[in-house]
Amino acid sequence: MQKHMDFSAFTEITPTAAVDAARHGWRAKCLQRLIRLDLPVPPTVALPVETVRAIAAGQMPDTEKLAAIFDGSLVTIRPSPENPDWGGPTTVLNVGLNAAKHAEIAKAHGQAMADAMYLGFVQSYAINVARLDPDLFTAEPSAEALREVLSAYEDEMEEEFPQSPARQMAEVLRSMARAWEGTTARLLRQAKGAPADAALGLIVQEMAQPFGPGLSGQGTIQLIESVTGAPQVTGRFRGTNPANRKAEETLYLVKDKRGHSLEEAAPGVFADLQRYCADCRTKLREEMQVEFALENGALRVIDAVRVQRSSRASVRVAVKLAQDGIIGRDEAILRVEPRALSELLHYQIDPRLPRDRVARGIAASPGAASGRIVFTSAAAQAGAARDERCILIRRETAPEDIRGMHAAVAVLTERGGMTSHAAVIARGLGLPCIVGASEIRINARDRSLTTRDGRTFREGDTITVDGTNGEILAGAAEMLEPALDEWFRTLLHWADNVRDIGVRANADTPDDARTARMFEAEGIGLCRTEHMFFDEDRLTVMREMIFADTAKDRKVALDRLLPMQRADFIALFDIMAGLPVCIRLFDPPLHEFLPQDREGMRELAEALDRPQSEVMRRVEALSEFNPMLGMRGVRLGITMPEIYEMQARAIFEATVDAEGRGIHIVPEIMLPLVSAKREVEIIKNSVDAIAAAVHTATGIDFDYRLGVMVETPRAALRAGEIAQHAAFLSFGTNDLTQMTYGLSRDDAGRFMGDYVQKSVFPEDPFHVLDEEGVGEFLLIGSARGRKTNSKLTLSVCGEHGGNPESIAFCRQSGFNYVSCSPFRVPVARLAAAQFAL
Ligand code: PEP
Ligand code: MG
Repeated sequence: MQKHMDFSAFTEITPTAAVDAARHGWRAKCLQRLIRLDLPVPPTVALPVETVRAIAAGQMPDTEKLAAIFDGSLVTIRPSPENPDWGGPTTVLNVGLNAAKHAEIAKAHGQAMADAMYLGFVQSYAINVARLDPDLFTAEPSAEALREVLSAYEDEMEEEFPQSPARQMAEVLRSMARAWEGTTARLLRQAKGAPADAALGLIVQEMAQPFGPGLSGQGTIQLIESVTGAPQVTGRFRGTNPANRKAEETLYLVKDKRGHSLEEAAPGVFADLQRYCADCRTKLREEMQVEFALENGALRVIDAVRVQRSSRASVRVAVKLAQDGIIGRDEAILRVEPRALSELLHYQIDPRLPRDRVARGIAASPGAASGRIVFTSAAAQAGAARDERCILIRRETAPEDIRGMHAAVAVLTERGGMTSHAAVIARGLGLPCIVGASEIRINARDRSLTTRDGRTFREGDTITVDGTNGEILAGAAEMLEPALDEWFRTLLHWADNVRDIGVRANADTPDDARTARMFEAEGIGLCRTEHMFFDEDRLTVMREMIFADTAKDRKVALDRLLPMQRADFIALFDIMAGLPVCIRLFDPPLHEFLPQDREGMRELAEALDRPQSEVMRRVEALSEFNPMLGMRGVRLGITMPEIYEMQARAIFEATVDAEGRGIHIVPEIMLPLVSAKREVEIIKNSVDAIAAAVHTATGIDFDYRLGVMVETPRAALRAGEIAQHAAFLSFGTNDLTQMTYGLSRDDAGRFMGDYVQKSVFPEDPFHVLDEEGVGEFLLIGSARGRKTNSKLTLSVCGEHGGNPESIAFCRQSGFNYVSCSPFRVPVARLAAAQFAL
């Protein structure tokens, strides 16, 4: 004998009833608000979470009392979890419908209508409540179909279809309570952020009856368009027309060329509905979609939910609500998910259309693009010259692919992780990029790629790269345009007024700098100067410099590079118009500038007028076992001082030039890969001497700041003494993560997926700052640095600078600014503001 439970636990929702979201769920709370707004909500009862839990645990609810409240009316039963995003079991409509009611409806409103309703209920009950095979219950409405599904139910369940409304109610409640406890449902909601013990409330509501001579039906209405957020009444309406033999007829909600609309058929109702939405907007402080029923001409409001919206609509709605005085600016700032902003900065695949996905990889740079595939940078450049949109596909990219990347509309690599070359450059360029796409195989010889399920794409075929979610699609896709509109700008200006950590951009070229200005970065936090040496004319001079046998010969080549570098800095200073610009002196190992293949070496031998054998010998001599830990960064500066001297001279001469044109700038010069104080001393002496020389030659006064990148664990540990010679420390968290973990940033993609999936690492540490490990170096370095130099400026310029969690960490640690790819500047501005609120 099953135990019966007392149903005094349910709450009839009235304006004054004690209903709260934690105990009865969001839907119950929302319905109470609608009732308080005087909207015509039908009688509604909320079952609290403890009751639903008890039902799931096996207590058989005594629903006689509950059914009595509804006094013979049909009811709907809907889920009401605490948060609407957590989903819930399927709603069951028309509970209480039985043979007697069926006959009553047939008599008053026609057999077709009654049959269709009863059939719909038996189908949904059999599938969702009795959990019978859906195949047995699919049928189009007819008297025959109704008889068949009733007998199918009897065969399967060995009992008659339940006729008692109280019994039906009990079974529905029990099945919904149990469905919530199921493993799939649990995993799904946990993926959306629900806690393990998230509970369910249930709502029982009187059904509106769509009968009578007047207009009847059901629909939804909202006041904005969901993709753009622009004001526009949108929704749907499905009318029930008893005069027609078909039980239902489609009516448009809003006036429409294609047919009748509710707006025309019942203008009063339409006006009421708009007013209800407007009331919801002001009183619930949100754009709501109202679900309604028309019952023989009388309007009922069944439910209301937050309008589903795209990221761009969410920005517009938040700003407009604040401008209308409905919410405060702070609240508007908090309502937009910072990461979602990056969707507005790029083309996106129209979410309303189907996708032909062929493979996926790591989403390394957001945005989407369609184009013809090419497998070499040269082909991408040739394609761009013909005005073709090309997608560059490489096993992985090297610095020499930069021009190809510039020419491409998207980049896809088989290998690599979040901070591999392709990922970093693509983010800087705002180019959609997928890396670590291990589901594809590139066949360089016949210029094709094959997916895991055997589909092959050849050079020239069109694909789409969705860098926002890492999906590779066959063919071209319809795109939504970027939306840097007034709403976006307004929200970010509000954010700037409240945030308390600076946001600069990593920018290497005039284009990057312009993008940085467009996104209102407060300056450049990292200019990677090596990217300036890959242009055709410079690369050869650069190679001459590398091949020089003596310091004197090296100087000859560097003298040719000097005016080019000076012009680079003049351009940057002009664009940044007095905002701070932090220039990092040359960093990468020299071999990155040399050709890798025989053909390239032959060309180089020709260009340098040297024997090919010598070129090959030199390339080999420069190759290192572990170049990332080899002769790079400040180590090059110490061993070949002429390079940094040339760069310092170019920076100071550009400063003087800008000064002469009324742009006052205090350049910041930054040393990469430092691990010892003495390295800083040596370079500082040399840079000071160049500054003095430029001053003497020009007679113009200028200032500069020298800083150090903290990229090695030792630099963090010795930050106290390093800071004696530095005006600022900028944590290069890409290299620092690499060196703290002993994890190659270019190879980690091979196993990072497994590591994260098996929870060895909670996240890819190249993506989200590892606060426990790498973060400790940030804390140690900043504390020791500030102890010796209280005015020390602290920043992060690795990829983590654009990551909201990492920004929170930097802010808490007292950093002055973060610097990130230009396209992540808006995300960083908004995230920083949210942390300050
Ligand atoms: C870093 O290491 O974090 C950094 C910003 O430098 P790069 O990525 O150029 O090595
Ligand atoms: Mg670095």
